[in-house]
Amino acid sequence: MIPAIRGTHDILPGEVERWQRAEDISRRLFERYGYAEVRTPIIEREELFAKGTGETTDIVQKEMYAFTDKGGERVTLRPEATPSLVRAFVEHALEQRMAAPKVYLFGPMFRYERPQKGRYRQFHQLDVEVFGMADPAIDAEVVDLAWALVAALGIVGAELVVNSVGCPACRPAFAAALVAALGADVSRLCRDCQRRAQTNPLRIFDCKVPADQPVIDALPHSLDFLCDGCRTHFAAVERHLGMYGIPYRVSHRLVRGLDYYTRTTFEILAGGIGAQNALLGGGRYDGLFRQLGGPDRTGIGFAAGLERLVLAMPEPRRSERRRPLFVAYMGEAARDAALALLRDLRRAELEAHMEYEGRSLKAQMKRADRLRAAFTLILGEEELAAGEVSVKDMATGGQRRVRREAVVEECRALVNGGRE
Ligand code: AMP
Repeated sequence: MIPAIRGTHDILPGEVERWQRAEDISRRLFERYGYAEVRTPIIEREELFAKGTGETTDIVQKEMYAFTDKGGERVTLRPEATPSLVRAFVEHALEQRMAAPKVYLFGPMFRYERPQKGRYRQFHQLDVEVFGMADPAIDAEVVDLAWALVAALGIVGAELVVNSVGCPACRPAFAAALVAALGADVSRLCRDCQRRAQTNPLRIFDCKVPADQPVIDALPHSLDFLCDGCRTHFAAVERHLGMYGIPYRVSHRLVRGLDYYTRTTFEILAGGIGAQNALLGGGRYDGLFRQLGGPDRTGIGFAAGLERLVLAMPEPRRSERRRPLFVAYMGEAARDAALALLRDLRRAELEAHMEYEGRSLKAQMKRADRLRAAFTLILGEEELAAGEVSVKDMATGGQRRVRREAVVEECRALVNGGRE
């Protein structure tokens, strides 16, 4: 058989339920905060990310699935969603069409990275963006939404880290200070860092090479170089986070791997999911619209990796587990009655299963067990004659007869009553 491509993965039954739960919970939460869903193509012009994500980023330099298509156009599988959402927002003049400029997207992203636990070449993100709102209260709202998302998924022990990377007015001084502080130490850093020191010194903070870390830890902090506007903005973001009671840590190392960030950056980290522990990351990107040739609009958002959220989520509580029903029958005469009952149960919005092969009752009960049925409804000649159905509680083994016309309602009560 031909295997799947390295770094991609299938999401199979048994696991897909956790994905569906994560998606359902996120979707409900985003809509409560006033976000509307947008779906964009997974293939875009390469230029969108070269200009948007940034020429000096690892993503653009090393990780894009870019190629020339049959028409001779340079295209790429999207490595992230923000530039696509900005493009769609401008291209369709959504500013005029939407009640609030807040959007979210779910979907696969592609980066040619070295695969490991929690890191794939095709992975899935949920992405949240707010356009054209510059007030620090919206920064805090976006962070609050990210924090609420992690809580709603039942993930405990997560840590929120925030920072400000300044703006084009104050960042050059910070970049110069980094280069000055590095001085001759540059030659001791990895080759990537040596390149970053020349092209984009802030990217040095992305370095994961253990030997480089002591040098990087000792570098100047962006917060010490903020201009008045950026300092006031960051203080207001902190004040709002305090007001919302969201615990956070300020880390000067959080500059994040993309070129477009300005002012606020943040990440939420999880314990117990391995080395790739960033559940989500985001920040403000006030220059991106202009960089892409659009109008002068601000932006802020975050992206979370669904693989990592799903990994960090706890097992569903008993009350959230499915409680299927199984319909078993004995003898040909009972088969039609069983089929009718199966259909009635499904019409009543209950999950119900049946086997058509006419195997022994024992074999049918085995199948019911495998399906983790909460109750099995048994129809035999006796039940048929009496106008009743035997209802077997699969957890206790107890069995009793219920009138056929009452059995659907009874099942609904049993299934829902079993949830605490
Ligand atoms: P980024 O778009 O790089 O800011 O990443 C945002 C989030 O996407 C991260 O916090 C991860 O949860 C997830 N992510 C990024 N790259 C990968 C990858 N290669 N595999 C799985 N998840 C990823």
